[in-house]
Amino acid sequence: MLKFKNNIGLSAALLIFCLLYYSPYIVYTLPSLANEHVYIENISEPFLSDNLYEGEEMRIPNRKNTHNEHREPLINYKSIPVLMYHSINPKSVNNLIISPEEFNMQMKWLKDNNYNPISLEELYNALFREETVKANPIVLTFDDGYEDNYIYAYPILKGYGYKAVVFLITDAVNKDTVLKDYQITEMYNNNIDFQSHTSNHIELNTENYSNQLKGIKKSQDYIDKLLNKKTEYLCYPVGKYNKDTLKICSELGIKMAFTTNPGFSSAANGRYTMKRIRISPSKDLNNFINSIKK
Ligand SMILES: [Zn+2]
Repeated sequence: MLKFKNNIGLSAALLIFCLLYYSPYIVYTLPSLANEHVYIENISEPFLSDNLYEGEEMRIPNRKNTHNEHREPLINYKSIPVLMYHSINPKSVNNLIISPEEFNMQMKWLKDNNYNPISLEELYNALFREETVKANPIVLTFDDGYEDNYIYAYPILKGYGYKAVVFLITDAVNKDTVLKDYQITEMYNNNIDFQSHTSNHIELNTENYSNQLKGIKKSQDYIDKLLNKKTEYLCYPVGKYNKDTLKICSELGIKMAFTTNPGFSSAANGRYTMKRIRISPSKDLNNFINSIKK
């Protein structure tokens, strides 16, 4: 049997724990804050003021409190926008090239409007396994694997802490104007995923079964070896495919394959015929905003 003294000690400890756990705020006193790593993801701008002085108290919402209204909600989504980019380059000479300034404006708008770029794995789990994701999910994809993705898009994506995916034409890797192995590895280590766009950008609907299989499998093997992972997603060159392509996707254990058909991605698309939203150069940010709203 526990002694009376221990019971008081235990009750006091429990009471203090409960008070702290359910408290809506944690109070930090500077300068202790300066020496502590504080998780700031959900803290709004006023908390990050430069005007704090030593000894000042600062109230930070307690993330442990499950009833906290600041806690980020996880939501079920039936459809999610998947954006399709190609080149990000100041030499914007055709419809597939977006200038870095315009790209940055779009990424900033996503940040300002609380969008959360997610990975293809998260997209798959959200649409086909009904898992919850952060609010306002969006997927950023880049076709072909241009070196300007590393030079111009990657620093911007990294700056915002965004996830993205590049669909690589693997036979072209290391060639002029195309991503190099070391760039792919560095980007992969910083939230940028790489998936297949075939080895040679063949229009799959014009090829027989065996050529299609070769083109897809070769690119998967290249990426698997370079990044020590399993390549499970595919993007059809020019959006073209036929019945053989769908059979190969299933045989290779591909989880989702993407077309260039316009629209939001959803399970209703069919997992080997996923839709995307093409982003074309435009002087008006409203065109971008309208394209990602239903
Ligand atoms: Zn392509």
